[in-house]
Amino acid sequence: MPSLDTAAIRSDFPVFERLIGGKQIHFLDSGASSQKPSQVLDAMTEFAAHHYANVHRGAYTLSLEATTEFERCRSSVARFIGATSPNEVVLTRGATTALNQIAFGWGGEHLRAGDKILLTTFEHHANLIPWQMVARRTGAQLDFVPFNEDYQFDIDVFEAKLDTDVKVVAVTGMSNVLGTLPPLRQIVEQSHSVGAIVVVDGAQLVPHLGVDVTDLGADFVAVSAHKMLGPTGIGFLWGRMDRLEEMEPFEGGGEMIADVTLESATWAQIPHRFEAGTPAIIESVGLTAAIEYLEALGMDAVAAHDAELTAYALGRLADVPDLTVYGPSDLSKRGGVISFTLGDAHPHDLATILDSEGVSVRAGHHCAKPLVRALGVPATARASFYVYNTTDDVDALLDGLSVAADIFSPSRVV
Ligand code: PMP
Repeated sequence: MPSLDTAAIRSDFPVFERLIGGKQIHFLDSGASSQKPSQVLDAMTEFAAHHYANVHRGAYTLSLEATTEFERCRSSVARFIGATSPNEVVLTRGATTALNQIAFGWGGEHLRAGDKILLTTFEHHANLIPWQMVARRTGAQLDFVPFNEDYQFDIDVFEAKLDTDVKVVAVTGMSNVLGTLPPLRQIVEQSHSVGAIVVVDGAQLVPHLGVDVTDLGADFVAVSAHKMLGPTGIGFLWGRMDRLEEMEPFEGGGEMIADVTLESATWAQIPHRFEAGTPAIIESVGLTAAIEYLEALGMDAVAAHDAELTAYALGRLADVPDLTVYGPSDLSKRGGVISFTLGDAHPHDLATILDSEGVSVRAGHHCAKPLVRALGVPATARASFYVYNTTDDVDALLDGLSVAADIFSPSRVV
C-alpha cells in the first residue's frame, strides 16, 4: 500500500500542470528546494492582500493580525519539532543564517584557543564555513569525522576523536550529497558525556524525517522552510533554552533590544533578541501553511514514502552499466538523496540531457566541495525525492539515463 496519495498531492502543486519542451516535469531536485502547494501560495497571497502590516509594533488592527500570524508560525514550528516552548524557536532567514547565529553567537562567545570543533567531512558549506570563520577568530581547532567504506558516519573515528577539548560537535542530520543519516542519538549522548554541545544541521533531515528536538536532546537545530514546501527567505533555529541564554545576538538592529542609549543597549527577551530587523512576515504565513500541509500528511508517511522511492530507485540504478552511486547501501542509514555518476560523463552534461527528457536533477559539488573532492570526482548528479514524486519519476530518470548512456557511448557514430 502506498504511504501517500501522490495523485491527490500532485494536484495541489500548480507546477505539475506545466509542460517543459512538451514533456511532463519529473522534478527530482527537492534536496535543493521543494515545490510549493497551492495551500502555501494561497495563504501568503491572502495574508499579503488583506492582513499585512509590520509586526510587533503596531496598536492597530492590521499590525495586530500580522503579529498574531507571525507568532502562529513560531508556535507551529514548535509543535512540528516537539519543542517545549515557542520561545525556543528563532525565526531566521534559513538554515545558513541559523548556523551562522549559532557559530558566531554561541561559538564566538564560548570557544577559546585549544578548544576543538568536531564536524564531519561531509558537511554542507553552511555547517563548515561559519565554524572555519569562528575557529580563525577564537583560536579553536577544527577536526573532522569522515565517512566509512559504506559512506556512513564513522562512529569509531568519532569515538577516538571525542575528548574533553571538544566543545562543539556540529553534524548534518542528513547529508545533502550522500543521503547519510548519522546516528544522532548516539552522537548527542557521547558528545554530552564529554561536555560538548551538539549542533544539528537539520536542513535535509527535518523536511523528510521530521524531528522531535526534545526527545533527540541536541542543543541546537537549524532548518530552512524552502526545502519543506514553504517559501524561501525563512527558516528557523531551535535551541534549548539554557543554550539560547548563553548565546549572544549575532545581528543588531531594530526589534531585538530592551533599551538603547547612544552608548549601549540591552537585549529583548529570547527569542526576539535574535531577530533583528523586520522579519520575513509574509513568508512566515507560508511556513505555517507548509507545516500544516506536512502534518496533515503525517511525517511518518512522508518518511515512508521517501524510503520506498529511494529503495525503488537504488534497485533500478543498480542495473545501469557504468553507474556509480555515492551513498550508504544500508537503506536504514540513508535518506532520499541519491548522488551518482555515469561513466566518464560530466554530471553537468548528464543533467542537461536528463532535462531534455523532462527530468530535473542537480549536478555539481552541492555546496560540499571537500566531500565531492574526497569522492574523487569533479561533481556528481543528484536525484532527490519528496511527497509529490512517484515511481514514474524514477522510471523517467532511468529512461533519461539510457538516452544519456547512448549519447556517451564510445561506439556511437557521430
Ligand atoms: N545544510 C544542508 C545539508 C543543506 O542541504 C542546505 C541547503 N542546500 C543548507 C544547509 C543551507 O540551507 P539554506 O541555503 O536554505 O540556508
